Amino acid sequence: MKAFLRWIGFEKQSKYVRDYYYTENMRSSIYMSIVIIVLEVWMMIRMTRTILERNDLGRFMYYFEKYYFNYIILLANGIIMLVFAVKYIRGKVSSRFIGSLIQWVFAIVCICFGIKISLNDYEKGEQILTFLTMTLFSLGLLTWKPYSAFLLSSVSYLYFYYRMNELVAFNTGQKGVTLATHINFFIMWISTMLVCLTKYNNIRIQALKDENLVQVNTYLSKISVEDELTGIHNMVYFRTEAEKLLSYVTTDRENIIFLFLDIENFKSYNEKYGFHEGDGLLIKFAHMIDEAFKGSLVSRYSDDHFVVLTSIEGAKNKVGELSGEVKKLQKEVHLELKCGAYKPQGNESDISLACDRARFACNSIKKHYDRTIRLYDKKLEDQFQLKQYIVNNIDTAIENGYIKVFYQPIVRTSDGCICGLEALARWQDPNYGLLSPGIFIEILEEYRQIYKLDKCIIEAVCRDYRDAVDNKKAFAPASINFSRLDFELCDIVGFLCETVEKYNVPKNFIDVEVTESALTDQQDFLPNAIKNLREFGFKVWLDDFGSGYSSLNVLKDYHFDVLKIDMKFLSGFKNNDKTRPILENIVGLAKQLSMMALTEGVETEEQFDFLGAIGCERAQGYLFSKPVPIGSLRESIAAGELKIAEEFIAK
Ligand code: C2E
Ligand code: CA
Ligand code: CA
Repeated sequence: MKAFLRWIGFEKQSKYVRDYYYTENMRSSIYMSIVIIVLEVWMMIRMTRTILERNDLGRFMYYFEKYYFNYIILLANGIIMLVFAVKYIRGKVSSRFIGSLIQWVFAIVCICFGIKISLNDYEKGEQILTFLTMTLFSLGLLTWKPYSAFLLSSVSYLYFYYRMNELVAFNTGQKGVTLATHINFFIMWISTMLVCLTKYNNIRIQALKDENLVQVNTYLSKISVEDELTGIHNMVYFRTEAEKLLSYVTTDRENIIFLFLDIENFKSYNEKYGFHEGDGLLIKFAHMIDEAFKGSLVSRYSDDHFVVLTSIEGAKNKVGELSGEVKKLQKEVHLELKCGAYKPQGNESDISLACDRARFACNSIKKHYDRTIRLYDKKLEDQFQLKQYIVNNIDTAIENGYIKVFYQPIVRTSDGCICGLEALARWQDPNYGLLSPGIFIEILEEYRQIYKLDKCIIEAVCRDYRDAVDNKKAFAPASINFSRLDFELCDIVGFLCETVEKYNVPKNFIDVEVTESALTDQQDFLPNAIKNLREFGFKVWLDDFGSGYSSLNVLKDYHFDVLKIDMKFLSGFKNNDKTRPILENIVGLAKQLSMMALTEGVETEEQFDFLGAIGCERAQGYLFSKPVPIGSLRESIAAGELKIAEEFIAK
C-alpha cells in the first residue's frame, strides 16, 4: 500500500527531492517554451502571409479574434515561462510558488489551445493531432505528481471528448464519435498517464540516488575537517587554515600566537569516572575554548589537547578565564588548565612545528601548580632543540657507542661492602657533552624509543661481565632499569634471555628494576612478563617504592625480590620527625612480605647507621659513590676507598 501510494505521488518528500523535481521541471520548461515561442511566431508569420495573399486585410479583426489572439496568449505564456525558468536556473529567483503557478497556467493554456484547434480540425474532418501533441507536450515533457497528471489529463480528455461528442463526425455525418475514435481516444489517455507515471518515478529514483550521494559527500567533507568526538575542527582543518592565514600578506604576523591547551590530570579523571564521563568533559571543554576564542582557529589536537591560533591581544585573559572554568568542572579529581604559547618568528610557516613548540612550552609547566601559561622563549628553544636532537640521534648514538653504562655501587649495611651495581645510562655526546638520563629518558619514552636504549644497556652490562670474568677483574651482580614501555614495544624478556646466553652470564648476575607505574597501567601483558622474568631465574626489584601511585596494591598483587625505597624518604631525614618511623615501617613491611629492603639516596653516615639499625639490608647513594664508569669503580676499590664483598673479588 505504502509502495503504491509512493508510486502515485502520495509520499512526504525531502526538500532535496522536491527541489530536484522543481529544477528538472524548470529545465524542461525552457525547451518547451522555446518550442512554443518559435511555433507561435511561425504561425503568426504564416497567418499574416495567408491574409496578405488573400488580400483580406479588411477582415483583420475576424482573424485577430479567431487566430492571432490565441497565438499571442500562447506566445506570452511561453515568454513568461522561459524568462522565469532561465532566472530560476541562474539562481536569480527562488520562489517556487510563482514558478509552479506559471507552470500550471502554461500547461492549461497549451492544452486549451490544443482543444480549441483540434475541435476546429475535427469539425473539418481532420485529425485531432494538436490536442494530442499539446497534452503529451505539457504532461509528458514536464514532470507532474501522478495525481496532478491524472487530474489535468482526465479533465482535458473528458472535456475534449464531451465537446467532440457533440459535433457531427465528418466521416459518418452523424453526431457523436465512432467506436474506433472512442477506443483510440481512451488508449491515448492511458498512454499519456503511463508516460507521466514513468517519468515521475524515474525522476524520483534519480533524485533519491543523488540525495544519497550528496549526503555521503556532505558527511565525508564534514568528517574530514571535524573532530569526531567534540564536533569542533580537527587538525587537518587547522593545518590548512593556519597555513593560509600565515601566507596572507594582510595577516599581521606580529600579532598572532599559537596556543596549546592541556587539562592536567585528565587521565586520572578518566580513570575515576570512566570514558563516558571523560568524553563528556572533553566535549564541554572543547566548546568552552571554541566559545572563548570565537573568530580564531580552534581545533582538537589529540586526547585532551587543543590548539588555537589567535591574536595576542586578550589571549592571556581568555586563558585565565578558561582556567577558572576548568576548575569549576572538576569533581574529586583536581583539574588544571595548562597553556603553552608560541609566537611564530619571521616568515616561519611550519604549523606542526609551531604546535610542537607551543606544546613543549605547555609541558614545561606541568606539575607547576602555580602556573597556567608559559611563553616559548630562548631557554625553551634550547631545550626543544636538544629534545629534537635526542629523538633524531638515538640510533646514531647507539651505533657510535656514545651510550655508556655507569655503575653505582649498592652496599650491604652489615659490613659496608659492595654487593651489587646499578647500571645507569649516560650519553657521552660529541656536541652536548655528557647527558644524564634525567634529560633523555623521558624524551625517549615519549617518542617510544626507550627500548633501544635499554637493549643497548643490557648488552653493555653483559659485555662488561664477560670482560670482567675473562680478564679476572671484579664485578658484582648488576641491576638494570627497565622502562614499562619496553614490555610493550619489544620482547625485552626474550632479548635479555638471548643476551645473557650469548655472553654466558649467570642469571643471578642480572637483576631487573621496574617501577610501580609499570604495574598500575592495567595492561595484562606486563604482570605476565614480570612473572616470566622470575621464572627464568632473574630477580625483579621494585624501584622507587613510595614515589607515588598505588604502592600497596602493587605489593599485594606481585612478588618482588627487592624493595627499593625511594630516596625522597631520606630527603627529610634531618628535619622531619616522621621520616624515621615511616622508613622503619616500610622496612618492616618488606620483611613481612619476604623482600629484601634497599634504600636509595644515602648521603650521610647518620642515614646509613640508621638504616642498619632498623634492619634495611642494603643501601645505595652518594655516600659510597656516584654512578661512575666501571674502570673508576675498580680504581676506588684498588685504592681502598670502597670495599667489595669477598665473593665478587676476581680470583
Ligand atoms: P633511578 O633508577 O631511581 O636511579 C637512581 C638515580 O638517583 C640515579 O640518577 C642516581 O645517580 C641518583 N642517585 C643515586 N644516589 C643518590 C644520592 O645519594 N643522592 C641523589 N640526590 N641522587 C642519587 P640518574 O643516573 O641520573 O638516573 C635517573 C633515572 O633515570 C633513574 O632513576 C632511572 O629511572 C632512569 N634511568 C637511568 N638509566 C636508565 C636506563 O638504562 N634505562 C631506563 N629505562 N631508565 C634509566
Ligand atoms: Ca633504578
Ligand atoms: Ca630509584
